[in-house]
Amino acid sequence: MASRRQIRVGGVPIGGGAPVAVQTMTKTETANLPATMDQIRRVADAGADLVRVAVPRDDDVEALRTIVRESPIPVIADIHFNHTLALKAIDAGAHCVRLNPGNIGGPDKVARVVERAKAAGTPMRIGVNSGSLPKHLHELERSDPVEALVTAAVEFVALMERLDFHDFKVSIKSTSVPNTIASNRLLAERIDYPLHLGITEAGTRWSGSLKSAVGLGTLLADGIGDTIRISLSTFHAEEEVKVAWEILKSLRLRERGPVLIACPTCGRLQFDMDTVVTEIERRLEAYDDPIEVAVLGCAVNGIGEASHADFGITGARNEGLVFSRGKPLRKVPQEQLVDVLFEEIDRYAVSKRVEVDQARASEGADWLARIEAEHAGELTPERLAAMEAAAAQDEGADAELLSAIEPRPARLDEDASPVAGRRFSRA
Ligand code: SF4
Repeated sequence: MASRRQIRVGGVPIGGGAPVAVQTMTKTETANLPATMDQIRRVADAGADLVRVAVPRDDDVEALRTIVRESPIPVIADIHFNHTLALKAIDAGAHCVRLNPGNIGGPDKVARVVERAKAAGTPMRIGVNSGSLPKHLHELERSDPVEALVTAAVEFVALMERLDFHDFKVSIKSTSVPNTIASNRLLAERIDYPLHLGITEAGTRWSGSLKSAVGLGTLLADGIGDTIRISLSTFHAEEEVKVAWEILKSLRLRERGPVLIACPTCGRLQFDMDTVVTEIERRLEAYDDPIEVAVLGCAVNGIGEASHADFGITGARNEGLVFSRGKPLRKVPQEQLVDVLFEEIDRYAVSKRVEVDQARASEGADWLARIEAEHAGELTPERLAAMEAAAAQDEGADAELLSAIEPRPARLDEDASPVAGRRFSRA
């Protein structure tokens, strides 16, 4: 379950029921200040709550002082193998230090870093990676990699507690999605410190995003995980942030900017949906309001399943309709659909309400009714889905009767979900 303890990295709360924090890591040489600061500003604009920078050399520690001072978001120093760099990063004002206690040179050196972190009030992330477990766990790793990862993490937690240090979060990372899921589930049962989630070396923007969505999405849906980083093979760290946000938005854990929904298209498609959806997605990036925008490839079904969308478009040959919350707003020539949609969204961005011109709305409603009537008998994917839903509801009624006799299994939906209470608690 979600961690009970909370730490603060800079001003960002992690764990203890706080909204899941999005973090990423710069891909620049940290000592290259202009490039590093440029990337940090980009990831902050994309919505990163925290940023991590690699600190493998003394030059990087020097740069860290300036980075910490100028960064718009808290900065985590990523240290491997060299405890002296960890001490210097704390002195440089890093908001958090990430290290793997297994590769820093033994418990004495870990103790020195902990002592300095305690004195400075700097939290730490202690990380365990599948590729770098302590020697005494190598045999266990071969027979039970999940147990080996969890044991290593629990041993490091015990070491921190022996040092009377509790201001840390923990990560277990693996290139294996199933092992990441299983080990974090087990770890969440054994410790109550905040958990950082990620899939190591997940891959390209395409495959890495999918692996991360499956692995991290599964854990987050269980209520496990307090901060996430998506690791993608791209020099554009802001892409990682965008993927992290899509995962959180899809689970309704956090809101940020518009949500685009679009039909999958089929043979009834009436316009160049690929181009239109791509353009709408690109233009929506400039908006902050968490509105839902729908794109339907034809008006055959009416507004149907997109009736809850704040704004939407649907098309027929030559003409199309801009609608809002189930009601037509305007009928427009097809080539103007996207621009008129954004005129409406822009108006909403200023006034925070949907403005309806009654004459145009009723012209749109007449047009829509005509298209629906022309295609009344067609079995579209949406109509088939509606029929299936109606059939399922009938079965539901039967099940309701049965449940009076037999108890039903626990439900997992938006209200019953373990993440329900954590939704939308921070913009
Ligand atoms: S029938 Fe449905 S899936 Fe096909 S184009 Fe129309 S809205 Fe899209």
